Amino acid sequence: MSQFENSLAFAKEMDAKDPLKDFRDLFHMPNFHEKTVRYFTGNSLGLQPKSTKDFIQEELDAWAKYGVEGHFLAKKPWFAYHENLTEMLANVVGALPIEVVVTHSLTTNLHLLMVSFYQPKGKRTKILCEAKAFPSDQYALESQVRFHGLDLEEHLIEIAPRAGEQLIREEDILAKIEELGDELALVMIGGVNYYTGQLFDMQAITEAGHRVGALVGFDLAHAAGNINLKLHDWGMDFAAWCSYKYLNSSPGGVSGMFVHERHANRPELVRFAGWWGHDKATRFLMEPGFQPMPGAEGWQLSNAPVLGMAAHLASLTIFEKAGMDRIGAKRDLMTGYLEYVIDDISEKNKDRCTFELITPRDPKKRGAQLSIMAKGQGKALFDALSDLGVVADWREPNVIRVAPAPLYNSFEDCYWFGQLLAEAIQ
Ligand SMILES: *Cc1c(COP(=O)(O)O)cnc(C)c1O
Repeated sequence: MSQFENSLAFAKEMDAKDPLKDFRDLFHMPNFHEKTVRYFTGNSLGLQPKSTKDFIQEELDAWAKYGVEGHFLAKKPWFAYHENLTEMLANVVGALPIEVVVTHSLTTNLHLLMVSFYQPKGKRTKILCEAKAFPSDQYALESQVRFHGLDLEEHLIEIAPRAGEQLIREEDILAKIEELGDELALVMIGGVNYYTGQLFDMQAITEAGHRVGALVGFDLAHAAGNINLKLHDWGMDFAAWCSYKYLNSSPGGVSGMFVHERHANRPELVRFAGWWGHDKATRFLMEPGFQPMPGAEGWQLSNAPVLGMAAHLASLTIFEKAGMDRIGAKRDLMTGYLEYVIDDISEKNKDRCTFELITPRDPKKRGAQLSIMAKGQGKALFDALSDLGVVADWREPNVIRVAPAPLYNSFEDCYWFGQLLAEAIQ
């Protein structure tokens, strides 16, 4: 017997018992559609907190009132605005404050980190990454290899699912690391795969990488604000993520960067530098000779884009109130419920269309995203679903990605997803 029922009454009962139920009200639910919108793309663009406007307005007012003096006279002085985010973000990703900074955008940060942590030398020249990584990561990795004048085929090693399988086996990653041994310079993998929703054991991968003398970094675009991360304890050398997916911090919003404490005081590390990474005590003396700030802040190039950071601050304030423990508990329960609903709809419609879950069924191996393969129907099914007010995501040839976000999705949303999916089957 399952703990769940595919009924409206059951879903409403789950919502009534949900300790995070009041958080939904803190967000704007899209209303562009004639039908009620069922939003399942918090993994692509998180919804806008109602408080975002006030956080941004505060800085617009400061700009209007003070002009350039806002750098020092604004209530949250702009010259140090990013520091308002550090501690809350460190809590979200399980890091020490010195290991985290908010700056630039995600792909930019991946490049900056690889400049420091991918230093091919002698035999140790190869990067291990996942096959079919997010395109931006693929381009970044390829261009890093080329930047060092190395041959792609030989130096960028991809690890893929076995023939006929959808997921990458962790044991295959660990074995590949072992096999590459002293030729391996860097392991760079998405902590949660954007397509399948598979969550990797980042600690095991990090330890395996370190055992053979390689450095290890992760792209956490689909993990930050979704997974209960323990970046410091897991020991990876670096990571980066965007703030506009699960972290709800505005389209194209600022990115987060993690550099492990063990690299916090290594001024000799090669890096692309800018004035905002320079020791802040002497930054405004504007003298030659770069002296990096200790920790992740030493990778900053430019002064903070304050309006984007204000949006991030609004959202992190909500994360702080909700706490990652409660968010994680609801994530597993609600994703499990959505999985149950999809299985039920699949079984009831098996003559016409079935839905195969690509995402692991083990809650410890996934976050909030379910990727479902529609067998029997193609894009028309997804278009019909969209016409019914469901906002989900389609990937050719036949995969629908849905992510119930714990802060604003409800069990009732999951119930309706099932009903509308059944209705959309032609
Ligand atoms: C969303 C996403 C990106 C986007 O990168 P930007 O630089 O923010 O445009 C990159 N990598 C992964 C894995 C993503 O999921």
